[in-house]
Amino acid sequence: MDYEGNLRVITERMAIACGKVGRTPDSVRLMGVTKGQQAAAVSAMAALGVKLFGENKVQEAKVKLPLCPSRLTWHMIGHLQSNKCRDAVHLFDMIEGVDSLALAEELEKCAKNKGKVQKILLEVNVAGEASKFGMRAGEVETTLMKINALPHLEIHGLMTIAPYSPDPERARGCFSRLRELKAKCEQTLGAPLPELSMGMSGDFEVAIEEGATIVRIGTALFGARPKWSAVKSSEED
Ligand SMILES: *Cc1c(COP(=O)(O)O)cnc(C)c1O
Repeated sequence: MDYEGNLRVITERMAIACGKVGRTPDSVRLMGVTKGQQAAAVSAMAALGVKLFGENKVQEAKVKLPLCPSRLTWHMIGHLQSNKCRDAVHLFDMIEGVDSLALAEELEKCAKNKGKVQKILLEVNVAGEASKFGMRAGEVETTLMKINALPHLEIHGLMTIAPYSPDPERARGCFSRLRELKAKCEQTLGAPLPELSMGMSGDFEVAIEEGATIVRIGTALFGARPKWSAVKSSEED
């Protein structure tokens, strides 16, 4: 796998998308999504300068992260079950998939126990798809205010996964609605929310045009996703 070539192409495409709407390339962070990948893939990408990585399963991250270079930044981007909150708070710098007050309250407990202020993003199911996690757009502001009152959580912004479509333009409305929702939340909160995590391999340029500050890229960086296995299939190396 030509990680260097993939990274160069993605970085260029990100810069072009920024240029199109007058943003500076350093206003968007690239997250390498490493679910399914082995620690060696993380190390290779980190050696090329990627600093931010995302995992979507606590169990997988628990095995993989100790094998990865230190001083990387890790975000939990998947659905989090309340019985995994303790591990998640230990493993991740930011938890992006906070989609209910109940989950936030559980994270608050775990963060308090660890003596940590946990950074979070609220996940919004902008399109209201039944198959997806995330709050409905209409409930975000009320839930935001309740979560904001929890002293060991720090809300940094919003995250969404656009409905899948082979045409990235179909995701534009979803991304622009998340941006508008963030602006409303900032008004309600009376404070800025710096992050908008949106855009994946198939639609990150449109997401950047609509204001993404984090794009979460898996397959376009690492190639087709292998199925995760805690034990490598070949033990020769
Ligand atoms: C897997 C995943 C991604 C990356 O998807 P690709 O299409 O491989 O880039 C991004 N965000 C979330 C939440 C994911 O689960």
